[in-house]
Amino acid sequence: MEGRHFRNGSASSSHRPGGHVFHGGGPRKPSFGGGKSGGFKGGSRGGFHGGPRKSSGRGGNRGGRFGSFSDVSKFVNKAVITEETSNFKPEHNFIDFKIDEKIKVNILKKGYNAPTPIQDKVIPHILANQDVVGIANTGTGKTAAFLIPLIDKVMKNRGEKILIMVPTRELATQIDDEFKEFSRMLSMFSVCCVGGSPIGRQLSNLRRSNNFIIGTPGRLKDLEERKALNLSQFKTVVLDEADRMLDMGFIHDMKYMISKMPVDRQTLFFSATMSSDIQALVKNFLRNPVSISVKTGDTAKSVDQDIVRVGPRNKLDVLQDLLSQTDFSRVLIFGKTKHGVERLKDALVARGFKSESIHGNKNQSKRQRALDLFKTSHLQVLVATDVAARGIDVSDISHVINYDLPATYEDYIHRIGRTGRAGKKGKAITFVD
Ligand code: AMP
Repeated sequence: MEGRHFRNGSASSSHRPGGHVFHGGGPRKPSFGGGKSGGFKGGSRGGFHGGPRKSSGRGGNRGGRFGSFSDVSKFVNKAVITEETSNFKPEHNFIDFKIDEKIKVNILKKGYNAPTPIQDKVIPHILANQDVVGIANTGTGKTAAFLIPLIDKVMKNRGEKILIMVPTRELATQIDDEFKEFSRMLSMFSVCCVGGSPIGRQLSNLRRSNNFIIGTPGRLKDLEERKALNLSQFKTVVLDEADRMLDMGFIHDMKYMISKMPVDRQTLFFSATMSSDIQALVKNFLRNPVSISVKTGDTAKSVDQDIVRVGPRNKLDVLQDLLSQTDFSRVLIFGKTKHGVERLKDALVARGFKSESIHGNKNQSKRQRALDLFKTSHLQVLVATDVAARGIDVSDISHVINYDLPATYEDYIHRIGRTGRAGKKGKAITFVD
């Protein structure tokens, strides 16, 4: 990809598919605990730099598993993609877009002054009714990139029906919330159709007038099979975080849903990665799409990454030491399993930290409640599994802690992308043995 530069000095980097750069080995970061605040000794960024060493393995692709690497520090602060967007000047202003003035008012109310790169590039194509493939990582503003022009589409045709399919309940809820803000006073409605919530209410909501259906593939398919959703009426579909849907085994549900939609439709496809499986989907689902990639590396730029070597110490004690520091004000901790996450939450509560958990064993209302408490600063800590945390957009998360190692490189990027959002600084800490 042209125009992309790689931070951390590219001379010793090895390029790999997907454009990620891995700096190999180098001196180990000294273990945490030397007494400096937060453990970010010597500045975390670039702290692992060492001599050039070709990294082995496939971390840049989905499926590159941490387990196949001897040392996670190869990833932390090494896997960085940065486009030349640091001085990004949008071509458009929100004022310039040919969208209804009332939508512009809502955008202003939301506090957005200028479009992000993905919004700047994608919105004109969506407005021109083109199919779009957007390669954008988390936190780039892609939700508004598709919601704004699609709300305009409904303004122009009140009969328009739009389906938005996403991998997780949290992401669906978040998109629905954002939709409500952008469509305020515009008399258009959405139904959020996710698993884990009572289907009865969704069934009755679907009987009312609505333009946007936002949901997860399994529940959407269920509703279609119950004849509550007539997909032949939907001429626009958004597949958001398509790579994640693929990972989570939704491929058949996705294909099923698309097969029930009109061939003559607008398809918008967003993914953080572009593997061969994803390319095959694009070929199947889209017609002459415009491809736009804005992997800005914002995550890497705005997140200080570090590791904590636990060594012989008790992992929970190490965590407690961290959480006791004043700057650890809103902390998202990742664990591997649902039970492990629940146990860790209980242990933290027992040690006096206001904590909650979200994972697949909790129903949607409990997950949402935990998220709301976290958002409204009633909790210091939220412990989560990868799937449950997908799409969480909570501002001001001070730290992300990988208590258990992420399974894949992509999970690592998604986890740390929960902090340092919307131009703010964040810190990510990964526990290693
Ligand atoms: P997303 O990638 O859609 O999850 O958005 C990431 C974060 O950026 C969210 O908190 C959005 O509210 C915020 N955001 C999106 N677009 C803009 C914009 N144009 N200006 C300021 N903040 C934005």
